[in-house]
Amino acid sequence: MNINLAINEGSKILNSKFIPNPLLDAEILMAKIINKDRNYILLNYSNPINKNDLNKFFKLIEKRSLGKPVAYLIKKKSFWNSEFIISNDTLIPRPDTELVVENTLKLTKQRNKLNILDIGVGSGCILLSILKERKDFIGTGIDISEKCLNISKKNAINLKVSSRVKFYKSDVDKFNLGKYDLIVSNPPYINTCKIKYLERDVAEFEPKLALDGGLDGLSEIRKVIKKSSELIKKNSKFILEIGFDQKNKVINLLKKEGFYINSIQKDYANNDRCIVSTKI
Ligand code: GLN
Repeated sequence: MNINLAINEGSKILNSKFIPNPLLDAEILMAKIINKDRNYILLNYSNPINKNDLNKFFKLIEKRSLGKPVAYLIKKKSFWNSEFIISNDTLIPRPDTELVVENTLKLTKQRNKLNILDIGVGSGCILLSILKERKDFIGTGIDISEKCLNISKKNAINLKVSSRVKFYKSDVDKFNLGKYDLIVSNPPYINTCKIKYLERDVAEFEPKLALDGGLDGLSEIRKVIKKSSELIKKNSKFILEIGFDQKNKVINLLKKEGFYINSIQKDYANNDRCIVSTKI
């Protein structure tokens, strides 16, 4: 069998299970198995594939056909300017979350040596993307999940920012170290009862710890805002990702903790997704 036939066969299987981009997914999974990039596949589609690789490929196709996201199968995801290692314990970095990075970079063009805190750092995609672009900034990432911190640490090494970042395993409300010039966070903000109605790929495969925002979706956001208000320096920016229907409630929470609302950005689906505020 050659690469092309295997991909077509895999794609047919995914299509029959209603997976949205069957051919693309099959190509990406094949690239992973033969340890090449997608371009290689497109240029060498008539190359033969050995039995061992073929078996591995169809195992991945089977997992994908059951809904497991491609990013978890290949254990990586592109975000902003880098490729991040991920695992089943981390949320898959989303294009919408790039809003947090974009805002931070816009607001810090003329700033030097800022000390940044990321609450719920996960794979590290937000904090490490910022540190990679701002070479004299330093950062701290906290997370309740040790497994996520281990992934973050690997990503920090890959992005060559590990000397400028520290990680702590901590509950948000128990963390009391340092004062920060800027705080970013993408906390869990999905209402517990609504998780099961998210897309199957998300609901069945992404970590509940990174999604579950309690019975009103705001329990973690509340803690993050309170903690940020304590750890942020005066006149500093706080950039927070929120759920599509949380804008007004989050604005009220921020105001109560002494934040001025600068702007709210919409994501690619035109939902309110990111709030920029300043501690006054
Ligand atoms: N945006 C994610 C989703 O759509 C949720 C991320 C989060 O809870 N922080 O499922």
